Amino acid sequence: MKNQWITAKAFISYLTLQKVWNYLLLQLSFQLSRWFQKPLIWGKATTLSIEPTTSCNLRCPECPSGLRSFTRPTGMLQEQLFEKVILQTKSHLSWLHLYFQGEPFLNPRFLEMVRFADQNKIFTSTSTNAHYLDEKKVKAIITSGLKQLIVSMDGITQEIYEQYRIGGNLEKVQEGIKIFISEREKSKSQFPRVVLQFLVTGQNEQQIPALKQWAKEMKVDELQLKTTQIYDFENGSDLIPSDLGYSRYAPAGNGKWKLKKKLENKCWRMWQGAVVTWDGKVVPCCFDKNAEHVMGELSTQPFRDIWKSNSYQLFRNQLLLDRSQIEICKNCTE
Ligand code: SF4
Repeated sequence: MKNQWITAKAFISYLTLQKVWNYLLLQLSFQLSRWFQKPLIWGKATTLSIEPTTSCNLRCPECPSGLRSFTRPTGMLQEQLFEKVILQTKSHLSWLHLYFQGEPFLNPRFLEMVRFADQNKIFTSTSTNAHYLDEKKVKAIITSGLKQLIVSMDGITQEIYEQYRIGGNLEKVQEGIKIFISEREKSKSQFPRVVLQFLVTGQNEQQIPALKQWAKEMKVDELQLKTTQIYDFENGSDLIPSDLGYSRYAPAGNGKWKLKKKLENKCWRMWQGAVVTWDGKVVPCCFDKNAEHVMGELSTQPFRDIWKSNSYQLFRNQLLLDRSQIEICKNCTE
């Protein structure tokens, strides 16, 4: 709770009247769209996720970066494109998540991009597998303006950790977190806030008590236990934990599985923000890992045109009418 309060205060300090007004317009148009079953969009994106790179040092089994299975081009975000997007969106953007697929710290200009967004008064966060947190890098992160660092650590022993984070080194991750907390303390800064994220699976669920103890000793700011998305959930998977409180899926009978949450014909995310791939494609959300629903290309079109384009409106319309017709929306808890 304390961490959420500190994060919220920082977030609010980046808001402007224009951003708040924009948010209210988005909310209002979202509610009216549901009412009329017709996509009205009055504001502009209040959040964006931008992908620093598709490269990754690990081989996680439910991730196209890890599996090297992308059907779209792979590469590194270039600063020039990034800065163009920030300048086009900074008046309405309140939260920038510098992450989609891949490990952000593999982009050599990553922290310069964070700094640029921060200087343009945008709250920034990122997610990392924490294999690159040496002392020099940690000092640079602390002074970059980054406000939230989400660290993925899904096991408390190497044997369990590497079952999902294939190729990962738990000692390195834990050492990185330790350096980070200690350097941040020395710098007397409260930021970035460190959120330890643990994807609960059938393999690691027994380690939750030990994980909680470790997180407390390390003084991480927050521990989040997350459910895992599984591509082929209908036939079950070893990744589904036995404690279904940590699962997005439930038995459907006949050995089959189904999504726990009922699919509703709505999605606030389509009004709230968008995801941008490393090469500037705007896609609806982070479930579109292979960019199958490209709404526009920022290399050639301004963001405001893409946000209200026909393809975006058709997508929003389909969501309001029958979401089950969109493949990516069938396995989504939104
Ligand atoms: S998958 Fe569909 S329902 Fe889920 S967040 Fe994306 S657009 Fe919305």
